[in-house]
Amino acid sequence: MKRPISELIKNYQDKMQFARAFRYALWMIGWDTETEAPRGALEERSIHVGTLSRELHNFSTSQEMIDLVQELFDRKDELDSLMHTEIKKTHKYLMRQLKVPVDEYVEYQMLLSKTQTIWADAKNNNDYNAFKPYLEKIIFFKQKMMSYWQTDTLQGYDVLLDQFEEGMTSTEYDEFFVALKKDLVPFVKGITSLPKQEFSFLNQSYDIDKQKAFSHYIMDVLMFDRTRGLMKESEHPYTSGMTSQDVRWTNHFHEKLITSSIFSAIHELGHATYEQQCNPDLDKTNLGGGTSMAMHESQSRFYENIVGRSFAFWNVHFPKVQALFPSQLKDVTVEEWVKAVNQVENSLIRTEADELTYPLHIMVRYDIERAIMKQELTVEELPQEWNRLMKAYLDIDVPSDREGILQDVHWSSGMFGYFPTYALGSAYAAQIYYAMKRDFDVEDSLASGNTQAINEWLKQKIHWHGSTKTAKQLLLEATNEPFNPQYYIEYLKTKYQSIYR
Ligand code: ZN
Repeated sequence: MKRPISELIKNYQDKMQFARAFRYALWMIGWDTETEAPRGALEERSIHVGTLSRELHNFSTSQEMIDLVQELFDRKDELDSLMHTEIKKTHKYLMRQLKVPVDEYVEYQMLLSKTQTIWADAKNNNDYNAFKPYLEKIIFFKQKMMSYWQTDTLQGYDVLLDQFEEGMTSTEYDEFFVALKKDLVPFVKGITSLPKQEFSFLNQSYDIDKQKAFSHYIMDVLMFDRTRGLMKESEHPYTSGMTSQDVRWTNHFHEKLITSSIFSAIHELGHATYEQQCNPDLDKTNLGGGTSMAMHESQSRFYENIVGRSFAFWNVHFPKVQALFPSQLKDVTVEEWVKAVNQVENSLIRTEADELTYPLHIMVRYDIERAIMKQELTVEELPQEWNRLMKAYLDIDVPSDREGILQDVHWSSGMFGYFPTYALGSAYAAQIYYAMKRDFDVEDSLASGNTQAINEWLKQKIHWHGSTKTAKQLLLEATNEPFNPQYYIEYLKTKYQSIYR
């Protein structure tokens, strides 16, 4: 006899609550590790993390759980629309997990537990050969997983792309990057051939406590709700939200680099605002939080670049920075400041790249990943190919692998397919900006001193929906158009033509 659907739902929700409690504990430990835990605590806690993770994995993939999710999935037409969406998502992840033989999964996890350290050492020693055999093993595993996860419609590299950005395939990414290549590469060359302007005020020392005070000021400008979140310090800035009621972010302060903490704050607060403005009803489902990597990144980049590097924004807030740092900035005009924080430069390191050249760094990685996964490129050939593409796209010679192929952590933790979401996020942000401008005067609203109108628009169109819709769906509904890379190209050209005349 069939069990009543309400009984199945209750059972499922109890199990999810149990798993959530484990996840919360792991999240809390992770947050503490990144921010405040003393080094002495790390060894013992890694044992606790191992125990909790194993329990959670066993619980989530137990036969009882599989049967329950399968039954709910088979009877999904009896569910309300939210539960329907949730079960489809749970089922998809569970099935994906079960396709990988347990022994292989464990072997892969053990490999990954070593490779980040090996990569970090190889990078420090500028020794690609030390990392190469491990990278080869990671790629070997990735190719096996691709074969387990492939479907009739999803094959090869597309399988990996889909995990970070549901529904985005290499065909669509190819179109996007071809458009960028055609317009941006010559445009960037034109700008970088101009004589470089020096802004010596950027290289002075800035008191760290005052930089922190400015981060707190920015939190108020962007209207971060401190009753449901907080900021601490970590090595690399990041944001992590468990629910809409508990959203945490970090910053890192460099005495000699004031722009770093300012733009990291605005960037991370973009991520945090997305998390805080999700419908709280989704907190007890698996549909809370941002819907995809690119959509999340679109929000952080919207605040960082479109809001945070605009004249309208600094016209209101530059006097505050000036008041905190009178000796460094008293003779600097707001026009000079805005020009300084929008300087374009061909650089070697992705994470330090400016807004305009950033997508070219991503194109290098995308081309390489695609070629690796198509087996057109061996690990032996990677450094050379990297250097060739950097010359072609950014017109720059790479002096060492440390500043080339070894610079990013992603591949050492198996994250193939992640990079293109960074560029896609910036392009989403531009399309969203043009849609927003049709509804109200964005620059005008920034003169009010906070981002209330912007937050509200993004809340209604994007944030509130959590991950109940895919990024593609959300973008279509928010902007009345499918993804169109021309907005991004137009946005960049208009902005930098006006800055560089
Ligand atoms: Zn980000």
